[in-house]
Amino acid sequence: MQTIRGFRDILPEQIALWQKVEQEAAALFESFGYREIRIPIVEKTALFARSIGETTDIVEKEMYTFEDRTGDMLTLRPEATASICRAYIQHKMYAAEPVRKFYLTGPMFRRERPQKGRYRQFYQIDAEVFGVESPYIDSELIFLLHTLLRRLGLEGLSAHINSLGCPVCRPDFQKALLDFLGERKDNLCENCKRRLVKNPLRILDCKVETCRQALEGSPATVDHLCPDCRTHFETVKTSLEKLGVDFMIDDTLVRGLDYYTRTAWEVQTTTLGAQSAVAGGGRYDRLVEELGGPSTPAIGFAIGFDRLVEVMEQLDTQVCEKGPDLFIVSLGADAQAYAFEWSCRLNTMGIRTDSDFRGKSMKALMKRANKVNAAFVLIIGDNELAQKKLVLRNMATKEQTEIGLDNLVNDLAQLIKN
Ligand code: AMP
Repeated sequence: MQTIRGFRDILPEQIALWQKVEQEAAALFESFGYREIRIPIVEKTALFARSIGETTDIVEKEMYTFEDRTGDMLTLRPEATASICRAYIQHKMYAAEPVRKFYLTGPMFRRERPQKGRYRQFYQIDAEVFGVESPYIDSELIFLLHTLLRRLGLEGLSAHINSLGCPVCRPDFQKALLDFLGERKDNLCENCKRRLVKNPLRILDCKVETCRQALEGSPATVDHLCPDCRTHFETVKTSLEKLGVDFMIDDTLVRGLDYYTRTAWEVQTTTLGAQSAVAGGGRYDRLVEELGGPSTPAIGFAIGFDRLVEVMEQLDTQVCEKGPDLFIVSLGADAQAYAFEWSCRLNTMGIRTDSDFRGKSMKALMKRANKVNAAFVLIIGDNELAQKKLVLRNMATKEQTEIGLDNLVNDLAQLIKN
């Protein structure tokens, strides 16, 4: 049996980087007042269809949808924002506190064509803020993301930002886009021909080469913003400049989800070869209301966790993997019985203790203690048991300390902790 295409195991040998990212992210989010939220992996299909958009690639082609035994249509979550909005509305979180900030880490599922850095089960780190219309929160999120990626040692980063406007200015832009595409209609793919009628903005996101060519020179949303959207975007830019965040305006950036309004951005890295996005986000001021909640401005981003780890691996990020505090070298059956009991007791006291019960020789066991990088080694054999005295060896300083059998566990814990 093998994993299915696009799915993979993340093995213990790979996990140190994942944990480092999780710890750094949680610490930074917490200091900015974000709280962790955990939500189900499966939701009703309608939640994603309504929020991400019926004519997006994700909903049209990539969702893992199935009918459960009672006939309900369910979907493995392709992203987290829709579910977090559902939770926000369901638990009336707006009632207790007008501003809510969340973060989340977990798997997402999209049936995309698997390739390097692209999986069908992948992981995202999400941050979402509800209840703040101010552009400063857009800058806070971009700054937070930037800071986290810097702390993780990423280089060659560029933040591409754009404003997608709002329902006031969108019709004006849509008209300009339709006028522009009018003569180029025949060069569009079949999908985009349908989109012309159903959702013209999605054409901007099409990856098909002929559509990309047809779009060259197309109108940009930033040129069609209403005064409010323009002021909002200006404040985002100036506040980012003040914080020293490098960014560039990318008026071709639209993101692949329908719910975005105003600020949208992506962080790209050159470390993985071609430009590749490690994170993306944007405002979605209409979504909570569209899903049945009160009108609530909201904004968030998602980091591609798998890609982030791949970049860190390319950069050869080292995470120091600590060996056990103590390795017990036990020779003979009686010694093994003691070693087993002491390891269990020491582990519960927070002294990470390892031993080997395969009946190997002293030489083999010492070799193993070295290989696992143990800080201390305790040797126990028939002689030591007869004399009721054991030797604890500090592997770094080579210092040896004699310990009596009485009260051994506590004495060991003391010596190792110091
Ligand atoms: P999105 O939810 O589409 O805005 O994506 C946010 C980030 O998630 C992207 O920038 C990618 O880094 C990552 N991502 C999206 N889809 C995949 C995938 N299939 N495999 C790995 N990472 C992905």
